[in-house]
Amino acid sequence: MKILVINCGSSSLKYQLIDSDTEKVLAKGLCERIGIDGMFTYQKAGCDKQVSQIDQPDHKKSVQLVIDALTDKENGVVADLSEIGAVGHRVVHGGEKFASSVLITEEVIKAIEECNDLAPLHNPANIIGINACRELMPGVPMVAVFDTAFHQTMPAEAFLYGIPYDYYKKYGVRKYGFHGTSHSYVSKRVIDILGLEAEKSKIVVCHLGNGASICAVDGGKSVETSMGLTPLMGLIMGTRSGEIDPGAMEFIANKEGLNLSEVMTILNKRSGVLGLSGVSSDFRDIESAIEDGNEQAKAAMDAFVHRVVSYVGGYIAVMGGVDAIVFTAGIGENDKGVRKAVIEKFGYLGVKLDEEANNSREDEVIISTPDSKVKVLKVATNEELMIARDTLALAK
Ligand code: ADP
Repeated sequence: MKILVINCGSSSLKYQLIDSDTEKVLAKGLCERIGIDGMFTYQKAGCDKQVSQIDQPDHKKSVQLVIDALTDKENGVVADLSEIGAVGHRVVHGGEKFASSVLITEEVIKAIEECNDLAPLHNPANIIGINACRELMPGVPMVAVFDTAFHQTMPAEAFLYGIPYDYYKKYGVRKYGFHGTSHSYVSKRVIDILGLEAEKSKIVVCHLGNGASICAVDGGKSVETSMGLTPLMGLIMGTRSGEIDPGAMEFIANKEGLNLSEVMTILNKRSGVLGLSGVSSDFRDIESAIEDGNEQAKAAMDAFVHRVVSYVGGYIAVMGGVDAIVFTAGIGENDKGVRKAVIEKFGYLGVKLDEEANNSREDEVIISTPDSKVKVLKVATNEELMIARDTLALAK
């Protein structure tokens, strides 16, 4: 079956057409600046990227462009629309309603809408994408895959905040966690690569991208993760602060004469390694600034690594041990310096990095030495493939 995977944002839409038999990407691309003017990118497997400026006043137009490109006589990858057997949609927040992926029905859309409060920037955009596809591809089964679902196995002791219990009961204020599709995919790959017994395996997944989170996966299930009610919590990220004393928010607001929503914007968009370094949110820029002797960039990098180390260490304690630590996403997959700096801190546990393996550019590599007490890996994440797999399972 050919499966269209859609990841819809408020002004963008990423897509991939995946052949579920071979698990190969047939074509992929991106619609950008939806509702503004419109950029359309299409790339057929093995061919160059095509970028064109095409007006996209709304998401329906963008989905139509995707369908037209995929079915194009010359450059398309399917003869007609009927070859696309199902559509998988990434949905950011499933609250406590969704502990796994689901076939989309009217009731499911309503339930996703009820989670809008928890992700006001993301969920409404996800629903717009779902509705646009339903209009243009009537009768094609569609599946919602949630960023939060994998973490629904967290026990209450891990997800409760120390605030009045009423706020949890009335409004659902608790830790949910994100990047679940990635943590799930990567932890399963590690179990396969190392031949671990899934039920007994203990894995710490470090998803370090522009957004970053860590997950403790015990017996194949998420038991702790660093993001919270929102994706602002936990690690120091590209532009997000991560963990901060809530008292600092009032303090900053008073000093700078800001209201709460202005402080939130700063914590989301002007903080993290960008805010700390004053250089960039991109680790490549941070590293070249460090090479040029920029002390503030060095301080940002050190703080980032320190935070990763403290979460990894905490999660090893939560699980009472660890078989493997794995790095994924933009920084985790590409930045050997960050991996080395983190892993060196776990020498006391008998963890040993294999420097040569750490330099490898392969997608899936064991980067610890054979005598290391804990295995360390880097594994390229593949959220789209995971979405396609769930979609296939439910659409069948
Ligand atoms: P997201 O999906 O959250 O937007 P990604 O997982 O794509 O983020 O990660 C993007 C980030 O990865 C970049 O901002 C950059 O900091 C980092 N990155 C990408 N390539 C490299 C590299 N070669 N070396 C160091 N960092 C890199």
